[in-house]
Amino acid sequence: MTEKQIQERIEKLATLNDEQWESLCKGCGVCCLLKHTRRAGVYYTSVACKNLNLDTQRCRVYNTRLNHRIYCNKVNVPVVLRSGLMPNSCGYIEYIYGPAETQIKPDYKKIISETELTKMSATSDDNNDSPRRANTLPGPWDFVIPESSQWCTRSIELRDKYEKFNNDVITRWAKKQNQH
Ligand code: SF4
Ligand code: SF4
Repeated sequence: MTEKQIQERIEKLATLNDEQWESLCKGCGVCCLLKHTRRAGVYYTSVACKNLNLDTQRCRVYNTRLNHRIYCNKVNVPVVLRSGLMPNSCGYIEYIYGPAETQIKPDYKKIISETELTKMSATSDDNNDSPRRANTLPGPWDFVIPESSQWCTRSIELRDKYEKFNNDVITRWAKKQNQH
């Protein structure tokens, strides 16, 4: 894709109606895995949001998801263009850049739910009285998927290389949203 084609796609993405927008999501569930930020970048973990059905990779509370979980971000135009967090094979990133070289498909049999992680923390053998206990409890950072450092390369490029262009598109998109 040329830069011009990518910019045309970014602009077009911002004009899609709700139905067209939803149809781009492939339901891969990747963006519902918890992320862990390290100095070296952002990593995905093998811990999923408690609302993700690990058998179907669908959100159990999709229609009311923003009321259910404080950290659930609605995937919209600014999130796709600015977060740098969407995986390379996400439908929205593919809409802009074309098909990804590799489809990111975690082995969901090896993914655990946040609920399970909470249980693991609660039953940790550590001494309850230790002031360092909080630091030794299992957390998402113990479940980082090392190769996930390469999962968002296109999203990061989109965020950084097209920053100014994206800002203009988002401003126009936001104005249109406010008119509705
Ligand atoms: S609540 Fe949000 S993050 Fe959790 S499964 Fe649903 S869509 Fe994904
Ligand atoms: S990563 Fe993209 S395609 Fe996959 S579930 Fe999230 S929004 Fe949909």
